[in-house]
Order: sequence, then structure tokens, then C-alpha cells
Amino acid sequence: MAQRTPWSLSGALKGMFQKPTIDETTWDDLEYALITADFGSDIAEAIIDELRANVDRYHTTDPRDLQRMLREIVDARLSRFDPTLKLSERPAVVLMVGVNGVGKTTTIGKLARFISNAGRSVVVGAADTFRAAAVEQLGTWAERAGVAIVKPQHQGQDPASVAYQTVEHALGTGTEIVIIDTAGRLHTKGGLMDELAKIRRVVEKQTPIAEVLLVLDATTGQNGVQQAQAFIEHAGVTGLVLTKLDGSAKGGFVLAVQERTGLPIKLIGQGEKIGDITGFTPHVFAQNLVG
Ligand code: GDP
Repeated sequence: MAQRTPWSLSGALKGMFQKPTIDETTWDDLEYALITADFGSDIAEAIIDELRANVDRYHTTDPRDLQRMLREIVDARLSRFDPTLKLSERPAVVLMVGVNGVGKTTTIGKLARFISNAGRSVVVGAADTFRAAAVEQLGTWAERAGVAIVKPQHQGQDPASVAYQTVEHALGTGTEIVIIDTAGRLHTKGGLMDELAKIRRVVEKQTPIAEVLLVLDATTGQNGVQQAQAFIEHAGVTGLVLTKLDGSAKGGFVLAVQERTGLPIKLIGQGEKIGDITGFTPHVFAQNLVG
């Protein structure tokens, strides 16, 4: 998966796993490493309790067993959620939501390329109509990705009507996947949630919505989740995209965010370039995180 893994625990855990035997400091060091990596103290404690129970059950004193057990526990917890993107509808509509600055526009560009590289046609809809710069920036990404874009005819056009026209475009041209950008202004939250609800109502009259993906900046950790709470409560979110993992030392957040929100991670972004996106594979992530 990733070439750059600043969120890997391997550095923090190395000393511990190379010791000749498990002792009391092992548990303290492990708890410290997990909390530092943003697992959250409740999850860190639960993991350590499970590890202690396993160590007792298997009568092991070998730190390498501990590493393997930790990897398995992290993998099992990450795998409680289904990371598959559900794009089987024709067309499959993906609404992208999230607070400004998290990397939503970049993610749309990357996702459009990711999907078209898989041989499926894509159109993006610029339904963040209030900011002219947002429409322009999305246009640049659509061009880079080599996909079609439907833009508002004038600034401030009703976002739901742009979403409608984008789906119409897909229905008319047989385009398989529709990705719709939406506004991410944090102030006037009520207005934004009403706007998203209207987009969903209008689109659902045309075709079912396949995914509502909430984009979160991994470097902001739990604060970012709090900022995005209104989306989680009101926008019908079906999955998460974590961006900027290349700049985050907080690998544990990946596990904590699924458990705190109850939502599966479906994509991860690890860089600013168009190819810097991957699906989320719990097994690979656990391996890279724990070593
Ligand atoms: P938006 O306001 O949510 O649409 O955010 P943008 O897509 O404009 O991105 C905001 C900033 O984050 C830009 O400078 C992007 O290059 C950067 N960015 C987006 N995704 C990633 C990522 O996965 N890694 C890194 N390092 N930067 C990212």
C-alpha cells in the first residue's frame, strides 16, 4: 500500500518487541505508544486487557508473540466494518461531503481517476455553487482525471439543480458513476444540512444514492470528527474517506474513527497527487501499523 507510513507504530514498539521477555514495563510502554498514536485511552485499555488475557492463556513471555497478537487484534477490530465501495447501481451516485479544507476536492479528482482507471465512466457535478473558486478547482481536477464535469450556469445556482443536471447527464450519456461535490462551509450549519437534504431528495427521485462519503482530515484526529458531527448526524453518511494520512503520526485514529462514528473507512488519501488514493484494506493497514 503506502510507501510513506509516518503513522506506523513500528518505531515506538521496536524496543519493546526486541526485549528478551514480556515484563511490567512492556505493558506501560505499550499503553503509552497506543495512546500517543491516538487510539484513545478506552480502546488502548481494551486492547491491552485482551492482550494480557491472551498472554496468560497461551503462557507466553515472548514479545514477538505480543506483536503478532496486537496485529491480529487491530486487524480484527478494523475488519468489523465493511470497506467496500458500493457502486453497482447504474448510474451509481456518490455524494461527497465534509468541512472545507479537509481535501474534498482533491479526493474527488483522485477518486474520479481511480474509478476511470478501473474502466468505468465518470461525471463529476460541481454542486458547491457558492464559491466560484470551488467550481474552478473542481474543473481543474476533472481535467486532470480526464472525466466530464457539470458546472453551475451561474454562481449561486441551486446546488440541488446542479446535482439533478449531473445525474441527467449520466442518464443521457450512459455514464456509470456520478460524483457530486457539495459545500463545506462550517458556519450556517443548519443551512448546509438543509442544502444537502435537498440534494439527496432531488437525486433520489432520479436514482438511488449509492454512497455518501464524509471526507475527514486524518491530521485533525478527534477534533475533525467533532467538526464533522453535523454531517454524521444529518447527511446520511455511508462511509469515510481519510485524507492526509501521509502527514499524520496518529495511526490509531484510523481504528478509533470507525469505532467512534460507527462508519466504515472506504478510501484513504496519502498525498496531494492524483494517484495518492487507495481503497482501505484492514489487513494491510494492521500489518503496516503494527509491523
Ligand atoms: P477542500 O476544501 O476540502 O476541497 O480541500 P482541497 O481538496 O482543496 O485540499 C486542501 C489541501 O489539502 C490542499 O493543499 C491539498 O493539496 C491538500 N490535500 C488533500 N488531500 C491530501 C492528502 O491526502 N495528503 C496531503 N499531504 N495533502 C492533501
